[in-house]
Amino acid sequence: MIIDGKAIALQIQEEIKTSISSIQGRKPCLAVILVGEHPPSQIYVGRKIKACTEVGIISRKIEMKQSDSEKDVLSQIAKLNEDDHVDGILVQLPLPPHINPFAITLAIDPRKDVDGFHPLNIGLLVEGQTDGFFPCTPLGIKVLLERSGVEMSGQHALVIGRSNIVGKPMAAILMQNTIGGNATVTIAHSFTKNLKDLSSRADIIIAAIGKPKFLTADMVKEGAVVIDVGTNKIDNPTKPSGYQIVGDVDFDQVKNKCSMITPVPGGVGPMTIAMLLSNTLRSFQKRTS
Ligand code: NAP
Repeated sequence: MIIDGKAIALQIQEEIKTSISSIQGRKPCLAVILVGEHPPSQIYVGRKIKACTEVGIISRKIEMKQSDSEKDVLSQIAKLNEDDHVDGILVQLPLPPHINPFAITLAIDPRKDVDGFHPLNIGLLVEGQTDGFFPCTPLGIKVLLERSGVEMSGQHALVIGRSNIVGKPMAAILMQNTIGGNATVTIAHSFTKNLKDLSSRADIIIAAIGKPKFLTADMVKEGAVVIDVGTNKIDNPTKPSGYQIVGDVDFDQVKNKCSMITPVPGGVGPMTIAMLLSNTLRSFQKRTS
């Protein structure tokens, strides 16, 4: 079975739209700061703003110059932290090299940190508290698994990748003693020995590596569930654009061996945006209740 992330994300967006349409008065608002002219970031920000408009979330795009200093960005964040009409603040990554992303993450009010990267929100997640914000990509994967009827309890989940935005919070979510958790979690990274031994025994594999078609069929157990987070651009002269986007999983081979798999595109990506909208609505609800 191919897990249709696009369809599940649309379903969630419809649910969010319905909730927002019943709000009287001020609607939820997301502020997005974009620093510089990194083309993929411009595309990602455009998609996030479009999704906001579709569900009725007000968006504010703050475009800053590549040459703006860390202090300039911090001052924008301070203004948004103080603004009662802003429920969510997102600073699009990556930032120019002269800006420290951790300083930026720390400056965002954790109550408006809808990306879920602030250490307070990460700490709440690890503690097993559910009133903070979970990072959007791993949260989207949790929801995708739940809505696809995958029972995590007691399963061996292998997370390949240990980034702060995907791998680490993913492992923390899956290990929690809650619905959608209770998995036995292994985390692999570039120093892991015998990855194939681990992956061949895993019931669920989350691949967040950033290497095109890295996970091949011989690394996957028959009937496993495979979630592909990877978004890699590779040359393809047969496409009008000259490139194509592929995941970290060799989809064509692995799909014949596993029980469920997410495609790229159309799997995890749309869920990340849906969770951003969901976190923004939650922030609004918490701030106005
Ligand atoms: P990242 O920060 O580059 O982390 C990659 C991880 O993979 C690192 O922990 C690295 O290990 C590990 N790794 C690299 N080579 C490995 C190997 N041979 N064996 C085992 N582990 C290996 O990447 P990320 O930000 O987590 O993103 C991962 C992928 O997901 C990228 O393609 C990214 O574009 C995509 N992504 C998609 C979404 C979405 O919404 N669809 C969101 C976020 C990211 P070390 O720590 O040892 O270096």
